[in-house]
Amino acid sequence: MSSTTSSSTAIAEQRLRLWHPRFALCAVCRRPTRGFGWRDPLRPPRLGPSVWFCSMPCQRFFTDQARRSSGMVDLTEQEQAAIRTAVKRVAEIMEEIGWQTRLIDLTESQVLTLIEVAVGGFQDAMADIAAAQADRIPEVPF
Ligand SMILES: [Zn+2]
Repeated sequence: MSSTTSSSTAIAEQRLRLWHPRFALCAVCRRPTRGFGWRDPLRPPRLGPSVWFCSMPCQRFFTDQARRSSGMVDLTEQEQAAIRTAVKRVAEIMEEIGWQTRLIDLTESQVLTLIEVAVGGFQDAMADIAAAQADRIPEVPF
């Protein structure tokens, strides 16, 4: 194999790495992405998308939010609502465990369940919000 072939293979692998969002999380709901991207117009095209999404509703939700505001540092109204939804699920688990249980007395599996329920509740709520809002946002023709 010549060095030209191996260097073009390396370039191809590098390009694949840039365009394949392996291990990236959806910018909206934090689920693993499935190849839907968005690139900041100020970012060089060769670097590929700035953020990735799990679905078209999450992608559309994000692009609509990005169009409305330039900097998203604080939690959005939707993220706060998603956290409130997750709190309800955590409360259900705490109801089962018993509210009198001190945090230090929780078992490892109870802590893991609480975290799973909190993260899952947040992801589901954000995905639901994105899907509901995506229906109302007109599609952008590319
Ligand atoms: Zn998503």
